[in-house]
Amino acid sequence: MIRVKNLDKYFGNFKALDNVNLNVPKGSIYGLVGPNGAGKTTLIKHLTGIYKQNNGDVEILGEKVYENINIKSKIGYIPDDLYFFPQYTIKNMASYYKRIYSDWNEERYQKLKKVFEIDENKKVNKLSKGMQKQVLFWLTLSIMPKVMILDEPIDGLDPLMRKKVWNLIVEDVAERETTVLISSHNLKELENICDHVGIMHKGKMLIESNLDELKSDVHKIQIAYKNDFPT
Ligand code: ADP
Repeated sequence: MIRVKNLDKYFGNFKALDNVNLNVPKGSIYGLVGPNGAGKTTLIKHLTGIYKQNNGDVEILGEKVYENINIKSKIGYIPDDLYFFPQYTIKNMASYYKRIYSDWNEERYQKLKKVFEIDENKKVNKLSKGMQKQVLFWLTLSIMPKVMILDEPIDGLDPLMRKKVWNLIVEDVAERETTVLISSHNLKELENICDHVGIMHKGKMLIESNLDELKSDVHKIQIAYKNDFPT
């Protein structure tokens, strides 16, 4: 569903991604884990067509992503570096999403209002970071995406809201076979929700594995977690 092959990315002379491979099966919840600076956001910006790779292939639903509007309109993306147009209220954003995403589901949007309980007339850039993330979950789940890509999505969410959004994602995957990739610098945060995990370190993909196999192979975890790797 999401496939990256031999991906290299340079920023000037600095190699931020080094021969990265990634395979996310349809209907899975994939945790992309690694310490800060590992390259997670850079990889995600290739998956969402923001960056163009120097070498390698990036495919979603069997199609190359870069400059592919058709694919981009099927991806629900929650970025780590949130930016909102200053005048936009939640309502304005919902209208914008409705225009951009053909699978926008108004009924779902209205239904999720009860989960998030945020006043639609609020300007989004005036909300706290946690509330902004909630708005993005609300909108992203309403576009009925085939693929969801979430970059550190639970930063700033309290444990109760975290549980709520995790439940919504798990339900969505079970009902519609959505494919989800979630990044985090903390494996523990993801291990209750993910079935597959990729561990990145210094621009490389160290291990890609089924979560159960990864857990049973302590040695692999020790290699991945040595030095500056948080446990
Ligand atoms: P992570 O998301 O895992 O914290 P990033 O993908 O943000 O890691 O960063 C990976 C590395 O690439 C870091 O060393 C970071 O400083 C560098 N980097 C990221 N974006 C840029 C950029 N636009 N220009 C130069 N270096 C960058």
